[in-house]
Amino acid sequence: MIGSLRLSRAQLEAVFDHARACKPEEACGILAGDRDGNVKRVFLMENAEHSSSFYVMDSREQFQVFDEMERDGLELAAIFHSHPHSPAFPSPKDRELAFYPDSVYLIISLMNNEPESHAFRIVEDQVSEIEIRVGET
Ligand SMILES: [Zn+2]
Repeated sequence: MIGSLRLSRAQLEAVFDHARACKPEEACGILAGDRDGNVKRVFLMENAEHSSSFYVMDSREQFQVFDEMERDGLELAAIFHSHPHSPAFPSPKDRELAFYPDSVYLIISLMNNEPESHAFRIVEDQVSEIEIRVGET
């Protein structure tokens, strides 16, 4: 089980840029890495619902990403999405749709000038925050 999420500043900036580009819609994507939570690749994905209040990954794109991860021997480290107008905390809908108990959920809030990010594990509606370490991969 991943104790913290470790990614480079450039990887985090790529996530922030995607979130900003998709605003006012929620942005989403996948961080692929190893079992220890070290991110190796960032997949920027489309919010199939084009909604500003929730996100759904495009199922075909998700299949392709999972396929590519498997081919490259990568694990699902985190699923990320943005909150254009609300804090970086899982919404009731996020908890309801958290289908990957082994994954980390990274949420980016754009409600202030500077993007804010927090990472969580969501298991059976129980939310616990985990540490994000930037610049240690
Ligand atoms: Zn959300």
